[in-house]
Order: sequence, then C-alpha cells, then structure tokens
Amino acid sequence: MATAGYDENIWVMSMENQKKRKLQIGIAIAVLSAVALLLLVLVVVLMKGNAAGDRTVTEIAVDQTGEDEFDVTDNEDEEAGRFDVTGGGDEETDDQNGKSRSGAAGGGDEEADDQTGDGEDEWSVDRLKAGFETAIQYDKQYKAYISSREEAERKIREYGEQQRELYSNPEVTEIEKQMEQDYGLFAVNLGEMDVETARDIERAFAYMYREYPMLQGTLTNVSLGNLNGFTNGKIAITQVNEFIINEEFGVCPHVVKHEIILAASSFLNRDNFLKNCEQMAESGHWPEHTDISSVVVHELGHQLLNAYAMQQFGLQDPYYITEENEDAYSAYLTDSLSSYQEIPKQVLNEAYERWESEHPGEDYTTFCKEISEYAVGVQTDGGISYPETFAEAIADVYLHGEDAADASRKIDEVIRE
Ligand SMILES: [Zn+2]
Repeated sequence: MATAGYDENIWVMSMENQKKRKLQIGIAIAVLSAVALLLLVLVVVLMKGNAAGDRTVTEIAVDQTGEDEFDVTDNEDEEAGRFDVTGGGDEETDDQNGKSRSGAAGGGDEEADDQTGDGEDEWSVDRLKAGFETAIQYDKQYKAYISSREEAERKIREYGEQQRELYSNPEVTEIEKQMEQDYGLFAVNLGEMDVETARDIERAFAYMYREYPMLQGTLTNVSLGNLNGFTNGKIAITQVNEFIINEEFGVCPHVVKHEIILAASSFLNRDNFLKNCEQMAESGHWPEHTDISSVVVHELGHQLLNAYAMQQFGLQDPYYITEENEDAYSAYLTDSLSSYQEIPKQVLNEAYERWESEHPGEDYTTFCKEISEYAVGVQTDGGISYPETFAEAIADVYLHGEDAADASRKIDEVIRE
C-alpha cells in the first residue's frame, strides 16, 4: 500500500478495470464531464467546396458533455486517442491553413512557421504532424494509495512538472507558473504553443476568475494535449479524469483531475485557428468576434457550470475523493453523465423563463439561437446539450458585454446570483 511509482504497466491494468467498471456501474470516468467544444463544424463549413461528401455536420458537433448518449463513444474515442496518433482532423485543418491568409500574426516556433503563410514550400505530412502535436501526455493514470489531500495535490503538481520537462518554452512557462499561482491550478502545461496564444489563454482565465470567483479551486489542470483520437475537430475538452486509482477504479481514497485540455491541432496552429474563428463567427455558428480567448472562455463556461453543480451537491476538495465527499462526488458525476442534467437544466430554464417574460410566446430554441447556432446544443442523436447553450452564453457576454444577446445576459444573470 505504500505509494506506488508512476508505472505504465499499472496504468494499463487499471484501464482494463476501468472499462469493466464503467459498463457495470455506468459511471464514465476517464472522460467525463465535459465538454467540449466548439467544434468542427467548421471544417464542414469551410471545406464545403472540397470536402468529401461523408463529412456531416453532426459529426462535428459532438461534445464531451458526458451525457449518456455519448458515454460509449467517448470511451472509444478516448482509447483511439491513445493509439491513433495521426487522426484525420488535422488534415482538414492543414488544408485550410495552406490557403489561409499569409503573413498573419504569429507562430513563434519553428513548426508553426512552417504551417503558416507559405505552407506550400515545404509541405509534408511529417512536418504537419510535428507542428500540431505536443509531447505532453495528459491522460495517464496510475495506481497508488494516496493518504491525504496534500499528497494528492503534490502528485498532480509533480506530474505537471514532469510534463514540463518534455518541452522547453521559457516565456510560456512563466505564464504557466503565473496561472498556477493566480488561479489555484495545480498544473498548467501549455507546451509548445507560442506566447501570444498562451497570453490569449491567460486573458480568458483572468476574466473568468475575476467575474466568477466560484471557479476558484474547482479546476486542477490546464494542458495542451493531442486530441486527435476524439471526434475530428475537437478544439478543447473540459473533463474529470481519475488520475490515481486506489486498487480499483472508484475505490476511496482516489485522486481525480478536473481539467481543460486544449487540442494541440488548434492551439499550435494559431493562424489557422484564428481563421477558423473568423469563419465560424461569420457563418453565425459561433458568436460574433469569436477569438482564441473567447474559445477558452467557452470552455471555462463549462467549468463554471461544473463549479455551480459542485456547490449544489456540496462537493468540496473535488480532486481528493474520500468517504467524506464520495457521496457528493458521485451525485455530481451522475448528474454530469445524465442525458438531462438537472443542474444545467435548472439554470437554463430559469433564464429562459425570465427571457420569455420579455419575449412572450417565443420558444426555447429561439432563446438559444439568439446566442449562436451552436448554442442550440443539438447533438448527434438529436438530444440537446444544456451545457453548450450555457457556455456559448458566457462567451457571448465576454465578447459583447451589455450588447450580448438578451438570452446570454439572462443566463449570466442567473449564474451570478
Ligand atoms: Zn462546449
């Protein structure tokens, strides 16, 4: 029972346990809650001209909300993420990049430079891969007995330090450390991204933690990661990940990370990312003026809803799960995993009622559409994701303040109360 080391084999075993348990217990773990993001519909929109016919809009809009309908797929995706490193999504993105405006602001590092501007010169699959992938591994799991909150925190911090050794990016590392301090994060790993992009991320955090102090202490990690195995086009996910498993999955005490993972394929490819933002905003799929910061605000919007749910369920110290907070944790997880998450639904319904009193007779879909197309939250199975509506509203308020859609402002009003 002594503290075990970081051992890959153990990790593999634990994954097998996990799979079984997931099916039995119905709790999805590894990738849970979350959310994700803004997706790739864009690819469809952008590539209309030359995309193969089999790419549909639905493929894009999948979010990692941890809702029932996605559990199985998410798990598969997650595994695919580990083994299928190349992933199809990048290619689409790359193509666009080749065509994108040249000389746009910039990629600080070598890889990014290759991609931007005159990509035609030295184009090769290997180069592209190198440019869009990070050395960081965000999804490892270990087996060990962790006997205190302090030790749990230390393990998460140590793991972040280990990841930091995989890249050398001093200017960005300064930002990482500052973010850890300012926002109570245990580990921030922005990896190989250029400093401008890191600053965009920092700006989003500064805004969100200032405006919604409830976020403090709910998130343990922010990391760049290769999300290629997820549904193509994932830009980011917000999730709960069981990091240190005690004997078996779910046995207390255990350690979970609450994290935002930023896709290397987007965050290491700044020019293309900005161009996508522009086009998604123009098409109305995302709010007007969407930029990298607002994409991160969207993700933090998911976390804000998570923070609110933690509060409602009385979940404290959400990263170290013991017999004391286990019930609250499992209530929190169960709601995150259910198709019709109660907490998000309550928030949205309350906001809708207030909005409807000023827009008599208008239905719920109209309410969502006022924010953005994506805010309608339609999922591949036709279900509706409340968290997407919520996150889009928060991003809209960030971008437009008083001029944000009435619907966004009502949602913001409810969560601030
Ligand atoms: Zn989202």
